Amino acid sequence: MKLMIDLLANLQPVVLIAMLILMYCIENVLPYLNPPANKRKHYGRNFIISLVSFLLNAVLGAVVVMVVELTAQNHWGLLNQFELPPVFGWIIGILLFDFGSFLTHNLQHKVPVLWRFHRIHHSDNHLNVSSSLRFHPVDVIVSQCVYQCIGVMLIGLPITAFVIYGSIAIPLLILQHSNVRFPAKLERIARLIFATPGWHKIHHASEQKDTDSHYGDVFTFWDRIFGTWGKKQPHEIQYGLAEFNEDKHHRVGHLMASPFKKNTSSRY
Ligand SMILES: [Zn+2]
Repeated sequence: MKLMIDLLANLQPVVLIAMLILMYCIENVLPYLNPPANKRKHYGRNFIISLVSFLLNAVLGAVVVMVVELTAQNHWGLLNQFELPPVFGWIIGILLFDFGSFLTHNLQHKVPVLWRFHRIHHSDNHLNVSSSLRFHPVDVIVSQCVYQCIGVMLIGLPITAFVIYGSIAIPLLILQHSNVRFPAKLERIARLIFATPGWHKIHHASEQKDTDSHYGDVFTFWDRIFGTWGKKQPHEIQYGLAEFNEDKHHRVGHLMASPFKKNTSSRY
């Protein structure tokens, strides 16, 4: 088992890059929604932001792995207080870790200073594979490092559960943002459990009641329990945010500096 988990962990960056290339190819042959007027510029800008996110994630990922190991060695967290069968511990750990991510994502929308950074991900007027990693570096630090370190320690997340969770969450993140149409039946069945591409796209709608919904990263349970979900179809959605309605607002420099500028947000 340990060998398999090591292999899965080592494969995660390879899977991420392979998925980005695969979905890029599919969405350019068979796009679902209308692509942006200047596709090359859109991909180019998002590519620069994504590269920074990817590298930052790689560095922060090492810190999180260190925390996962320390948690196991020192028996920190909830799950380490009980003698649970391993599989049981992994399942509960994965569910709790996803729930923590759901709560953090709520905070990223509800706490004004966190929203200033998180809204860069929501500012994209066109969703495609390049939107998957369009995050402000500070937003990456909040969700990938601060939350993951705290979540791992509080839950006592076993390394196996951490690796399995990442192996589901990473490909799902790419699928959720890609401009690819998924078979309606598969969407309908899969969203009973997983935050499918059609489910997550509602989170990118410009209307605030939709933006503040569909927070779940991997599972749909939490949004169903808290009533933060709806039934819009991806082709019915207006994507982006009102304050990012001009081309100049999507320049990399503007996106990186905007959280520090005079507030232009319509919500806070
Ligand atoms: Zn969000």
